[in-house]
Amino acid sequence: MKLHLSDSRIDRVLLTGDEIAAQVADLGSRIVADYAGRDLVLITVLKGGLFFLADLCRSIDLPLTVDFMAISSYGPGAESAVRITKDLDDPIEGRDVLMVEDIIDTGLTLNYLMRVLRERKPASLAVCTLLDKDVRRLVDLPIEYRGFRVPDRFLVGYGLDLDGVWRNLPYVATLHEEVWER
Ligand code: 5GP
Repeated sequence: MKLHLSDSRIDRVLLTGDEIAAQVADLGSRIVADYAGRDLVLITVLKGGLFFLADLCRSIDLPLTVDFMAISSYGPGAESAVRITKDLDDPIEGRDVLMVEDIIDTGLTLNYLMRVLRERKPASLAVCTLLDKDVRRLVDLPIEYRGFRVPDRFLVGYGLDLDGVWRNLPYVATLHEEVWER
């Protein structure tokens, strides 16, 4: 069985693979210009951020390392608590950290993670997100690098899942409302 557009739950393609690739290349060049000569580490949260990070780091022509965290969130909305289930492999003290995100929605998860990372005394800490659902933001978060502003719809593909599936779509798509009701 093929997934993709033949699946009736998918509404339409919001961002094509080509549009994403062009934006990733652009973000990569901006990061190269800003981080040349620095000690860059890209961090993302598994599993969704892995896909963007893999493409982004290959468009950054600088020495860098990558590291990963995993979290679980429980509880609704603003009361939701985050637990780190896999921490970074290496210390970040004194390093230039770029937090790479697939999507920022309310911003609560990232806000928590930024607090945790800041306590580890990196030389700098910045955010690069592919997708920004900024109409849903509940906390004020500076975002240094943003790929696309996206509408308040449930998105799948390019790392984003529904029940673990569809991360491997090479584009970002919206689902029909009835598939995902908040
Ligand atoms: P926040 O704490 O910013 O509200 O939540 C961010 C996380 O919610 C993302 O890392 C992602 O896991 C999930 N998320 C937010 N919006 C979407 C979406 O449209 N589709 C999918 N698949 N996940 C989303």
